[in-house]
Order: sequence, then C-alpha cells, then structure tokens
Amino acid sequence: MAIPRFWREIASRYNLIGTKCGSCGIVDFPPRTVCPSCGRRSIGKMQKLRLSGKGVVVTYTVIHDAPAQFEMQKPYVMAMVAMDEGVRLTSQIIDVNPGDVTIGMRVQATFRKLGQEGEAGVIHYGYKFRPA
Ligand SMILES: [Zn+2]
Repeated sequence: MAIPRFWREIASRYNLIGTKCGSCGIVDFPPRTVCPSCGRRSIGKMQKLRLSGKGVVVTYTVIHDAPAQFEMQKPYVMAMVAMDEGVRLTSQIIDVNPGDVTIGMRVQATFRKLGQEGEAGVIHYGYKFRPA
C-alpha cells in the first residue's frame, strides 16, 4: 500500500531529510525532486540526505507581539539558521533567554509541539532550535 504523501512529508520533517543535488551539490530542505539551480540536469540525480540538525544563527528577531497560539511563551525568538549542510531555515529558538541569543551562536534542531487546532484537536509537531 502506498504511503500517503502527507505522511511522507511528516516523516521527512521529523527526520530532517533533505536532498542533495548530484549535479551541483546544493542541499535543500524540505526535499526537492528537481534542483532549483540545475533544473533538468538534476533529474534522477537528487539524493536523500539526512541533515545533522546543527547550525548557526545568521539573524534573529525577538518577537514581543506574539500570535494567540504563542501566548504562553512570549517574547520569543525567531531566527534564520544556516545549517552546517548549507541550508537556511527560519525557526523559533527555544530554551534560551531572548537577550542571550547572538549571531553566530551554535544551535541544534529539536522537535517540539508547534500548535494545536482547537481544544482537543490535532497537535502539530515540528522542528525548533535550541542552543547546542
Ligand atoms: Zn544542482
């Protein structure tokens, strides 16, 4: 039985599986079927790559005016993280005081609850980063 696309994507996010282009070497996350740089030349050459989850903070913003679902945890930090494999992700930085976040700080991906739909609804999990 084929695994629904939705669950495949969830598995990819949980395991930080990206793709590496066999033509130019660019790493992407989430995974792609065609390299954005090489286009057709990359077809059939995309390789799965498990990201280390490690990277550095490139830029960050402390958000004081949080949306309702983040009500319990404001202020919080959103940062652009450059993964060691070269991919850049925007994510929340957790387990740190906003004033202690610095550019160049080493961080490590971790999986946390992202939000919930309704009182007893579907709970969403995803990656966030914490100091390494
Ligand atoms: Zn490429």
